[in-house]
Amino acid sequence: MQKGHISVQTENIFPIIKQFLYSDQEIFLRELISNAVDATTKLKTLASKGEFKGELGELTIEIIADKEAKTLTIRDKGIGMTSEEVERYLNQVAFSGAKDFLEKYKDESGIIGHFGLGFYSAFMVADKVEFVTKSFKEKSEGVTWTCEGNPEYTLDNNDKEERGTDVVLHISDDATEYLEDHRISELLNKYCKFLPVEIQFGTKKEQIPTSDAEDAETEEFEVPNIINNPHPIWKKSPSDLKDEDYISFYNEIYPFSQPPLFWIHLNIDYPFNLTGILYFPKLNNTLEVQKNKIQLYSNQVFITDDVKEIVPEFLTLLHGVIDSPDIPLNVSRSYLQSDRNVKKISTYITKKVADKMNDMFKKEREDFETKWNDVGPLVKYGMISNEKFNEKAEKFALLKNTEEKYFTIEEYKEKIKENQTDKHNKVIAIYTNTPKEHDAYIQAAKDEGYDILITDNMIDNHFMQHIEHKGGDMTFVRVDSDTVDNLVQKDVKNESVLSEDEQKNVEELFKGQISNTMAQVEVKALSPNALPVMITKSEFMRRMKEMQQLQGMGNAFPDSFNVVVNSNHPLVAEKLLKLENEDEKGKLAQHLYQLALLNQNMLKGTDLTNFIKKSIDFLK
Ligand code: ADP
Repeated sequence: MQKGHISVQTENIFPIIKQFLYSDQEIFLRELISNAVDATTKLKTLASKGEFKGELGELTIEIIADKEAKTLTIRDKGIGMTSEEVERYLNQVAFSGAKDFLEKYKDESGIIGHFGLGFYSAFMVADKVEFVTKSFKEKSEGVTWTCEGNPEYTLDNNDKEERGTDVVLHISDDATEYLEDHRISELLNKYCKFLPVEIQFGTKKEQIPTSDAEDAETEEFEVPNIINNPHPIWKKSPSDLKDEDYISFYNEIYPFSQPPLFWIHLNIDYPFNLTGILYFPKLNNTLEVQKNKIQLYSNQVFITDDVKEIVPEFLTLLHGVIDSPDIPLNVSRSYLQSDRNVKKISTYITKKVADKMNDMFKKEREDFETKWNDVGPLVKYGMISNEKFNEKAEKFALLKNTEEKYFTIEEYKEKIKENQTDKHNKVIAIYTNTPKEHDAYIQAAKDEGYDILITDNMIDNHFMQHIEHKGGDMTFVRVDSDTVDNLVQKDVKNESVLSEDEQKNVEELFKGQISNTMAQVEVKALSPNALPVMITKSEFMRRMKEMQQLQGMGNAFPDSFNVVVNSNHPLVAEKLLKLENEDEKGKLAQHLYQLALLNQNMLKGTDLTNFIKKSIDFLK
């Protein structure tokens, strides 16, 4: 037997490992199984090159928990190690400035694999680790390396017959959870589900037909419980896959979710290596889906579902997997953000997503429109937050009008240009965020021949501002804003049937009836078919108020509004002015005013109750 001292540049690395990786203790299993997978893959590669001539045999990696002995074993049939290799690879945890490094990154978890420390993560859960191995090389003897979590180790010959390695963890008393089947299964499921070599954990019962006949009887057998799918679809060629394959994979990783809308299969070798599938979930017109649904893999080993630094923020709404050995997985976040590869990957993914949508828009516009409700919020969010994406998406982002018709921004501008350009030559797009509440306004605007957009998503306010800002020649106004009837005013088609004096009269009459100091009376010559009185608000003021509310800043802007009296409406033009009795005039004006308030959902409390009582009395 040989004894030795592990060469590390810091006095004793184990307490540090234990301490700074504590929060991510469970990754030890991923690290050890990854090593086993590597050892197996290396052997396969050697065999394919003819450098290993023996039988490969069955290569399944086994995970064996023994509660009584308190051991957890990871067994592979890979290349194994000779005693020289054990000396070289296991004993020399020598990397430059170990101590400095650990000091610097002690708050970062997950750096371990990167610095050849993967194996030592075993000591986060084990008091003692035995590394029982036999190399694939001819005539090599088995060796067992044992270490009890301090820099001392022993190296012994063994009589292991099969090639490969057993890593035997003697689980410490504070980590016994890792002897429990359910906990192990949970970890295997999380980290190892798509590893490229079969992984067995225990056995399961399976009904197997006793012959090839169709009606053959079945018999129950114990079969190995293989926990992973070594050939996940993202590693396959898209031409070998059908829609069903993509959908069933989606269901496999996100059980119980609604089917995805569409997907993108990513596959690139240069200038970085990346494969994966991104799915568009059904957003149902919200942005409130769970983020962090994209899983990041490195050579089929699960790393994290926090991909913030790798895909642009707006794409974190997508689902699916990204697999890349080129993403530096084990370094600090700030480093990731400035990493050139990571930036390239982010740009690549953004471009792929935009291209895919553009393609759908061009080739299957109708279908694209039906999906717009679900992808729209993501696209808009992307356009606002990502310049590159915006450039592409401007061509396929859609606006929807009250007729449920869809237009690109350019198409829409063309459509309304003629009828909805104001005196400053700005194209005025009219929108409603609550079609039900704005019904009267919508009708009125339609009567004037205007088109109205529906912008009922949370993001739409920002999106409209974004378009205003970018294009510069289109402005959005809500259908109940004063700008809309200014637009009407510009169309000289409506001349007042009342003389100027009469109009002045009407104005005074209403002013006398309205006690609210925030109200401003305006008499306008609208269509006789429009409402007699309407409440409108300044678009600018309303937006400022909304913005303040969003920022939780209270109410610095006054709640002012306009009372627009339509001097061409028969009730105003004919009835009101002809009434003899001043009192009756007042009552009619008041009633019309209150109807207008009601229409804007501004008649409340006792005012509303009194109004209803009055109406009932009137019907009597
Ligand atoms: P890394 O895997 O990052 O190089 P590790 O500390 O996990 O660092 O492992 C150190 C080395 O030990 C590996 O590079 C590999 O050569 C060897 N090794 C670890 N586990 C096994 C195994 N199961 N079979 C063969 N070699 C192994």
